[in-house]
Order: sequence, then structure tokens, then C-alpha cells
Amino acid sequence: MIVVMKSGATEDEIQSVIDRIHEAGLEAHLSKGEFRTIIGVIGDEEKIDQLPIAAMPGVEKIMPVMKPYKLVSREFHPDNSVVEVGRAKFGSEQFCVIAGPCAVESEDQLMACAEKVMTAGAVMLRGGAFKPRTSPYSFQGLGEEGLRLLKRARSITGLPVVTEVVDVRHVVMVANYVDMLQIGARNMQNFLLLREVGMQQKPVMLKRGMSATVEEWLMAAEYIVRGGNRNVILCERGIRTFETATRNTLDLSSVPIVKRLSHLPVIVDPSHATGKREIVADLAKAALAAGADGIMVEIHPDPKRALCDGPQALNFEEFECMMEDLKKVAQALGRAI
Ligand code: PEP
Ligand code: MN
Repeated sequence: MIVVMKSGATEDEIQSVIDRIHEAGLEAHLSKGEFRTIIGVIGDEEKIDQLPIAAMPGVEKIMPVMKPYKLVSREFHPDNSVVEVGRAKFGSEQFCVIAGPCAVESEDQLMACAEKVMTAGAVMLRGGAFKPRTSPYSFQGLGEEGLRLLKRARSITGLPVVTEVVDVRHVVMVANYVDMLQIGARNMQNFLLLREVGMQQKPVMLKRGMSATVEEWLMAAEYIVRGGNRNVILCERGIRTFETATRNTLDLSSVPIVKRLSHLPVIVDPSHATGKREIVADLAKAALAAGADGIMVEIHPDPKRALCDGPQALNFEEFECMMEDLKKVAQALGRAI
């Protein structure tokens, strides 16, 4: 249930409602907007139904929530949530571009990428240190050494960095090195991992599972927000379909759908969605046109030598070209890059 307070509700009135929710053994999640305060009530549905709250002073209305997710829903938080990382403001007018190699391979490779990311006008550097590979024989990433290199790249360029965390035992350690934690498609429903990153302060980018519905994806985000971490960014990275022409099928319609259902920022990863460098820039532009809050793309100084995902990595020239095109599309749409 969601309690919408009147626009002039006082702090005491808000607190009385919260106290009554707590007295009933339920949880209250407060969302303060510019004009309105909204309180999400969480717990036993039966107890919620019996909660006498509608007549309390300062309460405008109560709304039952039929959707299984609450905290991430638009009803709960009608304004866009803006997640700030460095100078990136996900969920604002800004179209935020995150770029970097699939995997951190060496200092030279990462620094070359970082410099290009900065000069081309992107706002965040990505790089995998722990790679969740389909085959145990493939390159698994540099581990903590990769995190050290990411930290160094940040101190040289000033760019915030994001990396994937794959293990509950690594969450605190990884969070100490980077600015944003990534939960990969393969771990979207790793509920212990979601709970763990929910207890962290660092923003989390939650990728859509490869066979996850929009509702399952939002439920996964609900785990993180429920844990106390409201800084969640959703990332559409393509889903598995019968189509084999691309690595995955980019479900671009999920962008405007999720933007309506949820207040969380949504970005698109056209690299993993397509697996093909030739069409990454086209889908990046489409993502911007569809209302995404940003994109994440893979780049590499020499894609044919990449240890991971070379076929989908843009070389530096292609990346610069894409950035120039995106700036034009953004301008036409009244967005900034
Ligand atoms: C990645 O972004 O490095 C990655 C592994 O992507 P996904 O989890 O979407 O496959
Ligand atoms: Mn990759």
C-alpha cells in the first residue's frame, strides 16, 4: 500500500503515520518529493489491509499497489530518481555514456581506453575485473589487480569507474575500489548478491537477465532498494530469443515501458545486445531516441586482440564517430551529453 500525504502535511503528521505503520509491525519507506511525501507500507498484506490510516491528519489518500514491486514503482516515487556518479546524472536531461573494455587486460590497454573515454566526452569508465565467462577455459579477468588498475585510471582521468561484482564475498572489497557496482545478466536473480549490494552505499547498475521479464527485472531491483540502497540504474542488454542474427535481441521497448513503470534510470548496452560492432552505434542512437538515460558500450584499442568480446568492441575511431552522432541526436531531442 502507498500512503500519499497532503502537500502541506507537517513533519509531525508524517511521523504519526510512520509510527502507526511501525506499531502494526509493518515497514515504512519514506519518499520525499518536492511537493509531496509518499510512504510505502511493506509487510503482511492482511495487516496492511486492516491498517486504519486513511483518516489520519495530513493523509490525502491511500492506494493499494497491485504490482509485486513497490519501492521501485512510479506510484511510489512519481518523479524520476536521479543517480549521480561523478558528473554523470542518470535519470536527468543528460544522456550518460559509459565506455571501456569488456575486461581489464593490462595497464596500457586500460589507460588507452580511459583516455579515449575522457576525450570523446563519455562520463564513466567500465572494465571487468571478475569476468563471468560461459567457459571455464576462457579468460576470467585479472581479479583484484584489475580493480587496482581501474582505481589508477580514475585517479589519472577523474572518470568514475564501474565494474561487475560476481561474488557475495567480494562486494565490500570491490565497493572499496570503484564508484558503481555492476550486477551482470547472469546474476540478476542471485538474490543473496542483490541483498548484499543493497546494503552498500555505492550505486548499483542492474543488468536485465537474459531471459528475464520486465517484472522479474524490477523485482530484482526491489531487492536492492529494499535493502536500503536507492541508487539503482537498470541496464537493458538484450534478451534471448529465437533470433540468431545478433548475439541477443535488444528489447528496446523495455526502455519506455520501464520508464513508465518505474522511477529508476534505464540505460542500454548495445554491445552485449548485438554482439556486432557494425551495428552498436545504430542501436546506441536508437536507445537515445527511445528515451534511455544513457548507454554502456565496449571499446578496445585493438579489438581483434581483445581477450573478451572482441567482435562487439568498437575501436577508438568508431567510438569517436558514435559519440559525434550521439551528440547530434541528443541536441535534436533536447538532451545533453
Ligand atoms: C558485461 O557488461 O561485462 C557483461 C558481462 O554483460 P552481461 O552481464 O550483460 O552479459
Ligand atoms: Mn563483454
